[in-house]
Amino acid sequence: MDTIRIHDKTFNPYISEEAIRGKVHEIATALNRDYRDKNPIFIAILNGAFIFAADLFKSLSIDAEISFIKLASYKGMKSSGHVISVIGLDIEIFNRHLVILEDIVDTGKTLHEFLPQLWHNQPASIRIAALLHKPAAKEFQVNVDYTGFEIPDKFVVGYGLDYNGLGRNTAAIYQLFE
Ligand code: 5GP
Repeated sequence: MDTIRIHDKTFNPYISEEAIRGKVHEIATALNRDYRDKNPIFIAILNGAFIFAADLFKSLSIDAEISFIKLASYKGMKSSGHVISVIGLDIEIFNRHLVILEDIVDTGKTLHEFLPQLWHNQPASIRIAALLHKPAAKEFQVNVDYTGFEIPDKFVVGYGLDYNGLGRNTAAIYQLFE
């Protein structure tokens, strides 16, 4: 795999398509086991999680629903600002088992602000599945129940993740070259 150039930055190949596929399959296997007969609702956080959510959902063999929510908290290469719910939930979550799908948990701010809004509607349970987790960037306490890859606190793109709008359309994940 070659380096890629997005806007003014260069990114190195970091996690291959095969490694991602294997990990998504592992998470799906765990979810198939843990949510059998629970008819969970998956809530994918747009935009970044759309590819992870699609691949994961295709690997599920249990009854499951999916809905999408859009939050804004990230500009450029640093987490900033307040989490704003741009597109709300269009599904009744009272007494339902929820699995939040995130592309990446970085500082934890997004989920820290969003989860109380979900709990307000009294779901039966909430768990989090994140393809990527940067433990070193943690500022807010968030438990990630299903993690794909723990990665260092360095900016990554690809497989749904962008750098200022570009770079989402790669099958692999790339890391900022510094
Ligand atoms: P947090 O609120 O946990 O700090 O950040 C979560 C959101 O920030 C993610 O859903 C993602 O959109 C964005 N984010 C965090 N780290 C990265 C990164 O390394 N690359 C990209 N492209 N987005 C990131």
